Amino acid sequence: MAAGDCSAVELVEACIAAQGAAADLNAVVAATAEQARAAARHADQRRHRNEARPLEGIPVAVKDIFCTRGVATTAGSRILDGFVPAYESTVGAKLWDAGAILLGKTNMDEFAMGSSNETSWWGPVRNPWSPAAGPSLVPGGSSGGSAAIVAARAVPAALGTDTGGSIRQPASFCGVVGLKPTYGRCSRWGIIAFASSLDQAGPLTRSVADAALILQHIAGFDPKDSTSADLPVPDLHAALHGDVKGLRVGIPAEYRLDTLPVAVGDLWEQGIAWFRAAGAELLDVSLPHTRYALPAYYIVAPAEASANLARYDGVRFGRRSAGRDPDDLYTRTRREGFGEEVRRRIMIGGYVLSEGYYDAYYLRAQQVRTRIAEDFRTAFREVDVLLTPTAPSSAFPEGAKTDDPLAMYVNDIFTVPASLAGLPAISVPAGLDDDRLPLGLQLIGRAFDEATLLRAAAALENAVGTLPSPMGSA
Ligand code: GLN
Repeated sequence: MAAGDCSAVELVEACIAAQGAAADLNAVVAATAEQARAAARHADQRRHRNEARPLEGIPVAVKDIFCTRGVATTAGSRILDGFVPAYESTVGAKLWDAGAILLGKTNMDEFAMGSSNETSWWGPVRNPWSPAAGPSLVPGGSSGGSAAIVAARAVPAALGTDTGGSIRQPASFCGVVGLKPTYGRCSRWGIIAFASSLDQAGPLTRSVADAALILQHIAGFDPKDSTSADLPVPDLHAALHGDVKGLRVGIPAEYRLDTLPVAVGDLWEQGIAWFRAAGAELLDVSLPHTRYALPAYYIVAPAEASANLARYDGVRFGRRSAGRDPDDLYTRTRREGFGEEVRRRIMIGGYVLSEGYYDAYYLRAQQVRTRIAEDFRTAFREVDVLLTPTAPSSAFPEGAKTDDPLAMYVNDIFTVPASLAGLPAISVPAGLDDDRLPLGLQLIGRAFDEATLLRAAAALENAVGTLPSPMGSA
């Protein structure tokens, strides 16, 4: 657009057409075509007047967990049916202030609880890499709609949220870049809360450079979020020079699972070889408490969720079921409004916070969390980034894990530790498995050192070269 090759109106029309062609993915739950068209005209006028802002006219899809002023927001839940926020999330507002255009609210697991986008009230999302014949593959979750619509080339970037892996795992399954910033880097204000001590917003994009660009514009201190960090945001574009000579890359021994599929293990070895060839120094490190991360996460996250979701009572937001009296109204609203996985999490959360169990479960999990953060601090005395697989498999068929919540939770085995420690992490598409499905590699960085993380990610992306796209051409 800066070179005059296309206008914002043309770009937005092309994305609207592509989203229409990709309608079978069920990735978009609220289209915003008309307001996007108006914004695109406005963007073109600004560019003509030489007033173009950094993201002027760039369409961005937003996970339906971000409150969008005047646009229905459901977090994938029936209980929020009819909720139209009167305000914009801080990160959303920052994007629009930088000139970006909202193009679609994306499907997601209900209240971001899930790893396959199958718990959504709106129904499952289809992974664009699904073979033409045979069952639909899941896009990963919970930001499955955002990952799928970027992979389908129907929008250049999307926002997601990541509590235990919900940006990185779907990015891996769909062959796109997914970046979870450091906890506190981006404001959580106006994002529907799942587990407040873990939730972070971040971009899903086709390239590392695009992820850096979006992060540059959504990051920063916000007085409306008491956990947002009052730290300067470095120039992330400048970090993408590709030189990793002397960078110390750690390989955590505890991530070498016996159960790892051969293709995932081989790709990890390939990643190690790529970094070595680029002049990085590879070091073995130990994160001894890794195996306690998943159980600790599945206590802490449901505990916080049970408190956050107490507000959905049928009185203040969204859908209300009729009741004989207030208690009956609350009960019916919550029974009819929440899906099975959300009810399971609320019950687990209520249980681990209850008297007599609080010390045994919740407090213990918090202690484990501290140990996990210490493991990372120790490792980062010797290395600058860690390299691991993003997920223990490629995309799996719809329905394959819906009857077994524990099998579903294992998807997060490599992503949850960085979440518990609040560290930034990114998934970069790194190859295809034997079924020609994408696999990502994950890089984990020091707190607030997204610059080094992105530098390493750009070098990895460079070594991978061009991968095929699910839409045929590269
Ligand atoms: N899959 C994990 C869960 O179900 C993580 C979800 C997320 O990061 N929002 O809790």
